[in-house]
Amino acid sequence: MGRVRARAGRYKRRLLRQPMTGRPKGSSRRFALDTKLAELDDSRTMGPRAFESLIEVLRASPEEVLTHREAARRGRAISPRAVILRHDIDLDIDNAVRFATLEAAAGLKSTYFVLHTAWYYRWKTAGEIAPMTLDALHKIASMGHEIGLHNDAIGVALTDGSDPTEVLRREVEELRSHGFEIVGTAAHGDSEVIRAGLVNNRVFTERGGKDPIAVELDGRHVTTFTPLPLADFGLEYEAYSRSGPLYLADSGGRWNVFPEWALSQREQGKGPLTILTHPEAWSLSGKPMPARRPPVVKPLPSGPPAATRIGFGDKDRPLRVIARGDCCSRRAVAMNPEMFGSFEYIKDEKSRSDFAVDHAAVGSPSHIEMMRYVAVDRINNMSHRYYQFCQTDRNTLAVRNADLIMLDSYGDMNFQAWQHRVLGWKLWAPMSFLRDSEQFHADFESVGYLSLDDSVAYHVKLIEHYRRMNGHIPVLFLKQPIAYYSKLDDRSEFGELGARLEEIVPDLYYGFIDDADLEPADMDSSGPGQTLHFTAKTYRQMIEVALEKGLAEWMPQTTLSSRD
Ligand SMILES: [Zn+2]
Repeated sequence: MGRVRARAGRYKRRLLRQPMTGRPKGSSRRFALDTKLAELDDSRTMGPRAFESLIEVLRASPEEVLTHREAARRGRAISPRAVILRHDIDLDIDNAVRFATLEAAAGLKSTYFVLHTAWYYRWKTAGEIAPMTLDALHKIASMGHEIGLHNDAIGVALTDGSDPTEVLRREVEELRSHGFEIVGTAAHGDSEVIRAGLVNNRVFTERGGKDPIAVELDGRHVTTFTPLPLADFGLEYEAYSRSGPLYLADSGGRWNVFPEWALSQREQGKGPLTILTHPEAWSLSGKPMPARRPPVVKPLPSGPPAATRIGFGDKDRPLRVIARGDCCSRRAVAMNPEMFGSFEYIKDEKSRSDFAVDHAAVGSPSHIEMMRYVAVDRINNMSHRYYQFCQTDRNTLAVRNADLIMLDSYGDMNFQAWQHRVLGWKLWAPMSFLRDSEQFHADFESVGYLSLDDSVAYHVKLIEHYRRMNGHIPVLFLKQPIAYYSKLDDRSEFGELGARLEEIVPDLYYGFIDDADLEPADMDSSGPGQTLHFTAKTYRQMIEVALEKGLAEWMPQTTLSSRD
C-alpha cells in the first residue's frame, strides 16, 4: 500500500515538520512559537463576553452541567435540562487552559478533547507528547475536568497508510501512560478525511459497522481497516453518539444558533444541550481581536403553505410585534393603531443589525461602559441622551411568541461604528461628547458604515434567529425615507435594502412607497427643512402595500386584513 504524500499546505503537519533556522536553537523555537500564536490571535471571532454570559447562566445550576463521561454514565437517565460542556482543542491549547480556569471558577466541569495531530501536540519532540501539551492537560485535569482524545486516526492513516484502529489504540495508550483516564473520544472534522468520504469515528463498530472499510483518496487506495468496538479500546463513549438533541457550537467561528435559542429550548426541557467550543476561535488573552466579518448569506427556508398558517390566532391577547427598527417602524404602528388593534411592541432601536447579530459572539457594551466613554450626562437633547443607551438594548433577541417582525433601513444606513479592540463589540458614539478622545481611540477601532451587502447578510441572520424563536412569522419591512434628510443622500443605496431582502427572505413584505407620495411631518426637526418623520397616512400607505403583497393573509384576526 502506497504511502500517501502529506498534503501540501496542510497547516498542522507543515508546522510539525517546520525546519529549524540557523538561529540559536532556543530563540528560533521561541520565534516559531510566537509566530504560531500570533496567527491564532489574528483569527479570533468570539469574544470573552459571550462565554462569560453562558457561564453566568450555567453556574445557576452547576449540578446540571456534565462532562461527557458523566453524561455517558447516566445513559437514558440523563435530565432533559442537562448541559454537556465540550471543547475540541484543535489549535489552541493555551486557551483550553483559560476555558478550564473560567469554568472551574464558576464551579463547572467539562470535557477537553485533545487533538493528537495538532501542531502543539508533539511540538519539537522526537515523537513523544510535548511538555507544553502535557503541562496544559495536567492543569486542566487538576481542576476536575475530563480529558478525552480528539480522534483524527483516519487523518493519520491518510498520511502514512497505517491502520487507523492501531493509530487510535496507540494514542489512547500514550495519553493513559501519562496518568489521564481516557474513556471517550470525539471525531475531529479533518478536511482530508471528509474529502475521503469518511468520518474519524468510523473506526468504531458502533459508528462504522462490522465490515472492512477501504480508505481511498483521489482514486488511490491508502489502507483498509476493520472497525472495532469502543470497549476494545477501553472506551465508554464516542462524543457524537452522546450529544443531546440540542447543539450549540462555534462551528467555523460562529455560533450555529444564537445562545438565546439553545438556552430557551433547554428551559423548556427539550435537551440535553451539548455546548461545543473550539478554544482557538475565542479571544481570551486580552489581545486585540480582528475586525468582525459579516456572515455568509444563505437563503432562508420557506414557511408553511398559506392555508395551514396559524397566523395571529388568539384574539384574547394583543398582537406581539418585535422591531429592530427606528422611528419609521415605531411611528408606523403607533400612528395607525386602528390597523393593529391592541398590540405589544418590543423594540431594539438606534443600533445596527450587526450589533444584534454580533451579540451572540462577542456580547454588547453595558450602560456603565457607554458612560465611561461618552459624556451622556452632557448631551442636552433628551432623546439623544436616551438613544446613546438604547443602542445597547437586545430585548428582541429573547422574545418568544411574537406574531410579526418589523424592520426598517434607518440604523444600518445611518450609524458608523467603532469596534472595541479587545472585546469585539461595536457601538456608535458622538465625537463631540467623548470623555477622553485619546482613551477612546486607544480602545476602539473605526469600522465605519455597513455596506449594503453586509447589511443584507446581517438582516438575514437576524430574521433566521427571530424565526427560530417565534416560528415562521412574517416580516414587515419599511424603508426609512430620506427625501427630506440630505445628510444621508450618499447612503441612498439603502433604499434597495427592502427589495434585496424581499428576494431572499420568504414571507418578507416590503412596504415601499414612492418619494412623491410622502407627506412630511415635524418639518425642521432634523435641521432647517429636514425631517425623518411623516404623517400617519404615509405610514399607512406603506403598510397597505405590504398587506397587498401578502402580509394580510398572516393577520386574519386583526383589522390589518380588513381594510376599506
Ligand atoms: Zn476538531
